[in-house]
Amino acid sequence: MVLSNQVAVVTGGSRGIGRAAALELATQGARVLVNYQRSAAAAEEVVTLITAAGGEAFTIAADVSDEAEAQGVVDAALERWGRLDILVNNAGVTDDALLARMRPEQWHRVIEIDLTSVFLCCRAVLPTMRRQGYGRIINIGSLAGLAGNVGQTNYAAAKAGLIGFTRALARESAALGITANVVAPGYIETDMFETVSPAVRDWAVGIIAMGRFGRPEEVAATIAFLASPRASYITGHVLTVDGGWVMP
Ligand code: NDP
Repeated sequence: MVLSNQVAVVTGGSRGIGRAAALELATQGARVLVNYQRSAAAAEEVVTLITAAGGEAFTIAADVSDEAEAQGVVDAALERWGRLDILVNNAGVTDDALLARMRPEQWHRVIEIDLTSVFLCCRAVLPTMRRQGYGRIINIGSLAGLAGNVGQTNYAAAKAGLIGFTRALARESAALGITANVVAPGYIETDMFETVSPAVRDWAVGIIAMGRFGRPEEVAATIAFLASPRASYITGHVLTVDGGWVMP
């Protein structure tokens, strides 16, 4: 197994893409810390599935947009396993409104959870990855950060910011054996996707080359590749997983 003896932290690992990523990384041999904020039962279910298959995992409740709590997630993995090889910054929310009606709280909430959390978690893992001379950081972006999306100025700004952040980090840490990449999904069938209106779904499915929405497992496979030693010469990259939607 390609990730044997490795340790992974997945933020927002209780549901959707994070859940699928935690399961996939464990299938490939990693020990996985499953972070969640509210969905304790769902997070425990992920751990149950991993341990039933012979893997190792545990959960930690934390709001990763809070500095102390983000540090606590990283510390928990280090206390249990003594190393940390893979960080998947997946936790995210949307809080949509047209700009004219967007309240400052909506703006700040999405920037904090979708972007500031990534800064906090990356900063928390860096000393360990630097000491190890090895690390894989995968930040989950979105097509909205590349192409924009109506009603999502806050979300698009956070996800576009995440690309610049990741590229700067990739340059800062390449010589230390650490890679940092973005996986940018199109529409993926998760709870977050449930908020997308039928009209937007109809429009989107018409312009996606594959004519369908994605599954969390399809994003997870991409995350697992970038998290593996096989992706050794890839850093600062934005990999879209969108069924052929945005093709520059
Ligand atoms: P879901 O809404 O299904 O799951 C979101 C996850 O994030 C949950 O596990 C939730 O935990 C966790 N979370 C939310 N806020 C926090 C927080 N402050 N601290 C810790 N965990 C938190 O979302 P998806 O799986 O669809 O999305 C995952 C990522 O993929 C996000 O970054 C999203 O922006 C991105 N994405 C999704 C797309 C889609 O179509 N689904 C498209 C493009 C990008 P809990 O339930 O325990 O609170």
